[in-house]
Amino acid sequence: MNLMLLGMQGSGKGTISKLITEEFGLVPISIGELFRRSAAKGEELGLEASRYMNKGELVPDVLTIQILKNRLAEPDCKEGFILDGFPRNIKQAKALAKIAKIDAVIAIELPREECVKRLLARRVCSKCGEGYSTLLGAGDTCTKCGGKLVQRDDDKLDAINTRLEVYEKETTPLIDFYSDRLLKVSNDKSPSETYKPIKNFLAKVGKNK
Ligand code: AMP
Repeated sequence: MNLMLLGMQGSGKGTISKLITEEFGLVPISIGELFRRSAAKGEELGLEASRYMNKGELVPDVLTIQILKNRLAEPDCKEGFILDGFPRNIKQAKALAKIAKIDAVIAIELPREECVKRLLARRVCSKCGEGYSTLLGAGDTCTKCGGKLVQRDDDKLDAINTRLEVYEKETTPLIDFYSDRLLKVSNDKSPSETYKPIKNFLAKVGKNK
């Protein structure tokens, strides 16, 4: 089963993605994460991408489609994957249709002001990459490895506003594009409440495959 998560940055896609992958055994693929890892290794592709990412802009389609194609070609993706952060526009959705079949799309909904609040509170471990939130009591250090918690450059207010504007203009039209296989869920409750209808929906998708 191949899935896709849509939703504004800060809407909670990462948390929901974790719950789905644990239960359905899918490979999580976050394009932002692939770029960040590539940049950390000093690869040309990642370094080029980070010039756009730091400003909150989308990375050009040609680089984005390349990094996704490379990842989907790895053997673990054959059993099913869940895409988070791709596609971000109709052009990418059309490119994706040529390289993979997507069985279902889940759109996570949360008001923009709440997304901004959650993004500003987000912290990440500079050593192991674990995510935290100051809204949930994060301090300065990672409770898993002791690394220093930092704020991503694109989680600062200017970049957040750019990212959310790009989402509203370019990514929202995907809700109609995928309307034949879509579940919309509001994430204004706890992650486990949000997850319940998703689990029921995916159980049916899995059976019909
Ligand atoms: P994320 O981790 O999903 O918030 O993504 C971080 C950044 O990676 C975005 O602000 C973009 O600069 C870049 N990015 C992630 N996915 C895409 C995509 N599908 N197309 C273009 N840029 C992307």
